[in-house]
Amino acid sequence: MENNQKGKAIILLYHQVGRKPIKQTNLDCYCHQDRFKEQMAFLNDSKYKVISLDDLVGRISSLKKDFDDDYVVLTFDDGCEKFSETVLPILRKYDFPSTIYPVAGCLGEVASWSKVVNPDLSIVSKLALKQLSEQGVSIGAHTISHINLSNCDIDNAKEEIFNSKVLLESIIKKDVTSFSYPHGGYNEDVRSLVKSLGFSNAVTCNSKFIKPDSYLFELPRKYVTYFDTLESFKTILTDE
Ligand SMILES: [Zn+2]
Repeated sequence: MENNQKGKAIILLYHQVGRKPIKQTNLDCYCHQDRFKEQMAFLNDSKYKVISLDDLVGRISSLKKDFDDDYVVLTFDDGCEKFSETVLPILRKYDFPSTIYPVAGCLGEVASWSKVVNPDLSIVSKLALKQLSEQGVSIGAHTISHINLSNCDIDNAKEEIFNSKVLLESIIKKDVTSFSYPHGGYNEDVRSLVKSLGFSNAVTCNSKFIKPDSYLFELPRKYVTYFDTLESFKTILTDE
């Protein structure tokens, strides 16, 4: 990176973080806890500033010009139960903010959308979710049933999106303003729908950097998987 280049921003996407994936687990959606620890330690020692999604959204909406620094935002899809045990203590150590997107129809249960029943995909209970929110973790919506919104009927999409927001808000007693498209699936109608239903931003699985003029309802995120070493993690942060 040249010295005169301005900063950049990256939203990282994680799913489950744990000690040992079981054999049904999709390793693209799993990060080993030791690797995660290394990645967070690296971020802490690096030039990157780990900020909240709200903070980044504020910068995008108000600046519309180059970022002053290099920013990283941490997001975790699906709301895996183990988050409190495997992720939160590490984030606390560095005072890193985070956003999780629990599947609202699966709270306190093992995920029902995956083809095989996978205990790695146990979703936080309502009580645990409330506690996470009270501990400063931001909560975003990710539909009721983890449906792919790009190929579902628009009325059904509306219910899935809106009902998940209402349900999560009733539990955490705070506004839910961010949305994550399950399976990264969306289209123009879905995007407009999310905007019209009271969200202020939405995140995708499009693997790109955030630009100061990124559209707030189509924020790209870069995946971290089980196969990422510390070296490849650094590449995710530097290469488009
Ligand atoms: Zn998901």
